[in-house]
Order: sequence, then structure tokens, then C-alpha cells
Amino acid sequence: MTKTFEIAIFQGDGIGPEIMAPTLAVLESMSGLDCAFSFKDLPAGAEHYARTGDALPEASMQAAEAADAILLSAMGMPSIRYPNGQEIAPQLDLRERMGLFAGVRPVRIAKGQPTPLKLDHGQEVDFVLVRESTEGLFHSRKSPDVRANEAYETMKITRETSEKLFRFTFELARQRKAAGRGPGRVTCVDKANVLGAFVFFREVFDGVAQDYPDLNADHTYVDATALWMVEKPESFDVMVTENMFGDILSDLGAGLMGGLGLAPSADIGAQNAVFQPCHGSAPDIAGKGMANPFAMILSAAMMLDWLAIQHDHAPLAAGGTALREAVEAEIAQRTCVTPDLGGTATTDEAAAAIAARLT
Ligand code: ATP
Repeated sequence: MTKTFEIAIFQGDGIGPEIMAPTLAVLESMSGLDCAFSFKDLPAGAEHYARTGDALPEASMQAAEAADAILLSAMGMPSIRYPNGQEIAPQLDLRERMGLFAGVRPVRIAKGQPTPLKLDHGQEVDFVLVRESTEGLFHSRKSPDVRANEAYETMKITRETSEKLFRFTFELARQRKAAGRGPGRVTCVDKANVLGAFVFFREVFDGVAQDYPDLNADHTYVDATALWMVEKPESFDVMVTENMFGDILSDLGAGLMGGLGLAPSADIGAQNAVFQPCHGSAPDIAGKGMANPFAMILSAAMMLDWLAIQHDHAPLAAGGTALREAVEAEIAQRTCVTPDLGGTATTDEAAAAIAARLT
């Protein structure tokens, strides 16, 4: 009997629902996956908070935990905040509650893809940034120590989470190497020349690296990494870093890829995984039908990749690759793309063009 995967859906705020609907339509249009999807809408987000006073109902959290995977669209609204002024960010609560320690942010520039980088003709970029997503400098975000004339945040690095994070990262580099997508190198990005917490982070990394003699392990400082991501992006394969550094470097990666509308992500834990675009809810273009759906669709492709590994399901792995390649082909040729990529297509038309490439 065909397996049905239960997918929890968070529609999000602003452009969130506009990019989610056509993404689900693309998934439903795909043939040859040898499985079915059952999508379940779960309430959460800034608009939901404005209506109910609850940004992430417990029932939504539990239903998401029970699902096979979670697809989450752009969430949050700068105009809707908690009484202390912080933005509504249920995606952060999901990461912490489900222990989604590995934030996977692929940086891929295929041939023909517009990029601010000066790449040699035909040169491609293909590396992955793994961002620790449950501790680091985000640790004290719910209880910042803000006084009259000074303010403190605490960075937390634990051996337990760091070891899981590094093992995940080395395994990812190994999978990429086996798939012919990288040389099998893991780079630990830190600031060990200044902060003791990063000396600890690096020591844990070096310890885990011992278990992967088939891979290369090296270190870079975060500031130099920002420079090298621009100057020699081809030198990276898989890099791993702390939460705040990863937050910043992943937006840099999105910029290199030609914009936020193209950057997908996955937040992965031991049991659960959330797939969502890197961008926010873009209130400036919400309701206009011009949001780029590609980051959401690429996030769905990452979901297919992850489900394939979890369930040893080859057709899903093929589907994930086909979906990513269809988006890359469209970006290279730009026959039906949204205004941020220089086109005139609507969100739905751009997504439909991807579905058409898959048939
Ligand atoms: P957050 O802090 O919630 O991640 P942000 O401050 O990074 O959000 P975004 O909502 O991501 O801001 O928007 C930044 C800019 O990028 C805006 O001008 C927005 O219109 C644009 N943008 C973001 N996502 C898309 C998209 N999918 N398609 C087109 N433009 C987008």
C-alpha cells in the first residue's frame, strides 16, 4: 500500500500563505514519488496572536511534533509584537521545544543564476552552512538582562548539543561526498581567537572530527569567513557555526544566491524537522501576488530529501533532486519569474512553471 506522509503546515503571515498554497500544489502535481501527502493546517503566527493572544497554541505544537515533517511559511509581522516589544517568532519556539539543533542553509549558485559575485564563466557555487539553532547567543532571548545603563545577553554552548551538531554536519559532508557534491570537508566557524566559549566549541569539534578520518576538518574565524564567502566561495563544502553567527552568515549566503526569495532552509533535530524559506513575511509586498515562491519550493525539496533519508525511500530522493533542479533551471533561464528576479510573473504563475518543468 502507498505510504501517506502526514505533513504539518504553518501558513505563516504576510506573503506566507501566498507562497505556501502554490508550493503544496507543486508537491501534489509531482508524479513518481510512490507515496502520498496529507497536509494538515495548524494555526500559529503573528496574525493568530493578534486574534487570540496565543502565537503558537499547544495543540498546534503537539500536532506538528506528531507529523512526519513540518512545512512552515514565512512568519511574523513587524507591526504585531509581544508587550515587551519582541517580534512574534513561533519558529524559534518550535526549534527550541523540538530540539531542532541543526539549521541547514544551502548556498547554491547554479550556472546562469544571477549573483552579485564575479564568478568565472560556468563556475558554480555549492556549499552548506549548518547553524546551531537552539542555544548560542539566542539562549537568553526570553530573559535578557537589560538595566538602566547596561544590558547583557548570555551565550550558551553545551557539549551535548555541539557534539550532536558536529556529528550531523560530518554525516552531511559524507552524504554530499558520496553524491559527488563536495570534497568531504567540514569547516568550524568560530571566534576562538577572542572568546573562550568558542575555544570550547572548537575543542568539541576537533574531538568529533577524530571519528571521521575519511573527511577533512578545518577552522576559520567568522569575520574571515564572511570575507571568503564573497572572495572564494568555492573553497567551502560544509561549514558549521553558532546560532547568531549562523543567522548572519545565512543572510549573506542568501544575498550571494541572488536574494532572499531563493534561499531555503531546514531545521533538523533527532525526531522532527521544519522546512521553511529563509526570508520573512515581506509585509511590503504581501497581498500583491508578486512574492517569489522559489525559496518555499526549494524548502519543500529539502523536505523530500530528508523524508527520503528517514524512510529509506529512493523515489522521494529522486523527487527532491528533480524539484531542486527544476527551480535551478527556471532561475537560469528566467522564462517565468517574479519581479525580484526581473520578471513579471505572479507567485502562482512562477510556481506553475516549476510544476510544468516536472511533467
Ligand atoms: P525577518 O527578520 O522576519 O526574517 P526580514 O526583516 O529579513 O524578515 P523580509 O520579510 O525577509 O525581512 O523582507 C526583506 C526584503 O526582501 C523585503 O523588501 C521583501 O519584500 C523582500 N522579500 C522577502 N521575501 C521575498 C520573496 N519571497 N519574494 C520577493 N521579495 C521578498
